[in-house]
Amino acid sequence: MTKEKLVLPGKRPEIDQVILLVIDGMDTINFTLGKAEVMSGLHGRAAVGIARTEIIGAGTTITPTAHGMMGAGRNVTADRPGPDTDGRPYTYDGTIAVTVGDVARANGFVTGAVGKDEVAIALGGTGNLDISRLQKEGIDSTDEVQLIIEVRQVLSQFEKGILAVNFNAVDIAGHHRNVLGVIKAIERADRLVQQLIEAVDPERNLLIIAADHGTDPITGNHNTSPTPLSLITGAISGRHNLGIAHNMEIAPTILGALGLVRPEGMLGRDLLDLALSGRIPRTNYDPRFYEEYHD
Ligand SMILES: [Zn+2]
Repeated sequence: MTKEKLVLPGKRPEIDQVILLVIDGMDTINFTLGKAEVMSGLHGRAAVGIARTEIIGAGTTITPTAHGMMGAGRNVTADRPGPDTDGRPYTYDGTIAVTVGDVARANGFVTGAVGKDEVAIALGGTGNLDISRLQKEGIDSTDEVQLIIEVRQVLSQFEKGILAVNFNAVDIAGHHRNVLGVIKAIERADRLVQQLIEAVDPERNLLIIAADHGTDPITGNHNTSPTPLSLITGAISGRHNLGIAHNMEIAPTILGALGLVRPEGMLGRDLLDLALSGRIPRTNYDPRFYEEYHD
């Protein structure tokens, strides 16, 4: 029997800002088509896993519902923000679903959203945001250069809070059945994440990279494939394997990071807690192993 090394839990960090970056349409297959070292955690400050979602079928309700689940930590329904609705998530019995945005604002934290309008659903809809730099304000959600400028600007406006961002280039390329476009968009997403890491203080920020669903460049449709999930923050040392997670677990993870209490009905584990607990092993994160297979 080999002697197991004792792994002690790390100190729980005090996080001021949580950034939820949704790479729209990035399922695990699209992800692995591109070279995505940063989202894969090869910089050694990440916990990475595969997430499930509860979406079924293809159609317009997928994206709003998936964003709603990330914010409400439960199976909810939502509409795409537009002239008739601001994208408020509801439970299936018709009551308003409490999101991480609602909890944050009630406790004096700021909520902001950048990119594709739907990402505001995770924070309780476009009507409740403190700062909005979305498509409806003329932002191009497929332009990572514009997004990073907007993100830097928004983050400079508050000390404590949540910023939700949606980068939509992978989804669009998938709908256009453009496989090479999907590959390029994954790699552009990876550069966006690298710039995000450089833009924030890793000791007081938690970066969560997720996807709402996949968009298959063969069919041009959304699908129900699992999606990648990465947590990046200064307190994580090495590269941890989160295993199988669920996108609903993003909500309790955000609240846990900010020290906020989760509302009744919110499901799932605090994934940052899990990553720092010492209960899951580090994986080999030496970039040389990556290069061996990719160059
Ligand atoms: Zn789509």
